[in-house]
Amino acid sequence: MVKGVDPVRELQEQAVPWCSNGYYLSRRPSFTLDPLFHAGAYYVQEASSMFLETVCKQTVSLEAPLLALDLCAAPGGKSTLLQSILSADSLLISNEVIQSRVHVLKENVIKWGGSNVVVTHNDPRDFQQCSGLFDLMVVDAPCSGSGLFRRDPEAISEWSLSNVQLCFQRQQRILADAWESLKENGVLIYSTCSFSSDENEGILDWLLTTMDAESLRIRLDESWKIEEVQSIKGGWGYRFWPHKVMGEGFFIAAFRKRSTPAATRIRSKQSFAASRAEIAGVSKWIRSLDAFELVKQGQNIAAVPVRWAALIQQLMDVLKVRYAGVETGMMAKNDLIPDHALALSHLISDSIPFVELDRDTALEYLRKNEIPVMPSQKGWVLVRYEGLSLGWMKHLGNRINNYYPKEYRILMSK
Ligand code: SAM
Repeated sequence: MVKGVDPVRELQEQAVPWCSNGYYLSRRPSFTLDPLFHAGAYYVQEASSMFLETVCKQTVSLEAPLLALDLCAAPGGKSTLLQSILSADSLLISNEVIQSRVHVLKENVIKWGGSNVVVTHNDPRDFQQCSGLFDLMVVDAPCSGSGLFRRDPEAISEWSLSNVQLCFQRQQRILADAWESLKENGVLIYSTCSFSSDENEGILDWLLTTMDAESLRIRLDESWKIEEVQSIKGGWGYRFWPHKVMGEGFFIAAFRKRSTPAATRIRSKQSFAASRAEIAGVSKWIRSLDAFELVKQGQNIAAVPVRWAALIQQLMDVLKVRYAGVETGMMAKNDLIPDHALALSHLISDSIPFVELDRDTALEYLRKNEIPVMPSQKGWVLVRYEGLSLGWMKHLGNRINNYYPKEYRILMSK
């Protein structure tokens, strides 16, 4: 899925018919050795799951300012897709419960460069504190994974009937925990990459009998070869069979919530406001500062959309917020040490000096090696490749420091 520029253009042969920015690649290149991949110009994901865009377009008003939750979000495929289709006035909460998977989610959110995302690390049950909050909730549930057998033959040996049952129970638990946080008339989109009817039609029936949920039907184009199914209780579901569609095995369904949940009353106990000196320190680095409020998380100063600033600060009190808006950096005396996320964000001011690198030098930069460039300006300089930022370097007069984050550096040599 591409983000505005056309990075892998010579490989793009065919558009994914149900996703406006999705393309099939004619072969799999080395993404690690493509600087544009590290600049966040595109995200590589499986085509069937991009059908989420069509489901969203048919079930919610995407022009409106929506509050959306991607409950099972790592590594971030659905979250990058949602960011591309939600209006700029919307806010996405991108959540992952498994600690070891949060960092990859955060990395992908930073690469995508948006300012209206919050990454959280919570169990679905924690969202019970956010009763009636969300207009849209995506539950791309952990599942037994049979839909990926063709792509990953090892998954076959890990599959068992008892695991399907475990997954079925876990899916019910996740949905039961999260349902309360959906608004009245809010939309739940549920998906799996499993073929098992328990995890798909079984869950639709469970939702229709347990929750006040109305199943939503999606219009299909016959040429897509997606199969429409109906569960015993009449829930509509959409099955992607790998021998029929251009994609792997996948299942998706949408529901509207009919009941009225209790309204959330989260009161922020702490103040997260940035000081005047911090606001002054950040102001020259970002464009349209008026549209953002600066909030502190530890030493870090995050720029969050004004419209959502109060809510984000409340969420910081009740959820484990791992990233919010755009992390701009931290102050050292009166100067900002800019964060890597600021370099990759849409917020970065046009007046920041930059150097443009060729591919080989860009790869050396991404390996965190010394690079043979001497910019004319001293101080912080953006490193760019084909017009997109890769990160920071600092010109100290007699030498250059490479500030590419160590944890993201590429280890592959050729
Ligand atoms: N939506 C992601 C994407 O598009 O990149 C893929 C999500 S993957 C199918 C399911 C996710 O659910 C995994 O990240 C997994 O860590 C998470 N998960 C596992 N157990 C969970 C639980 N009990 N509650 C919520 N999420 C869970």
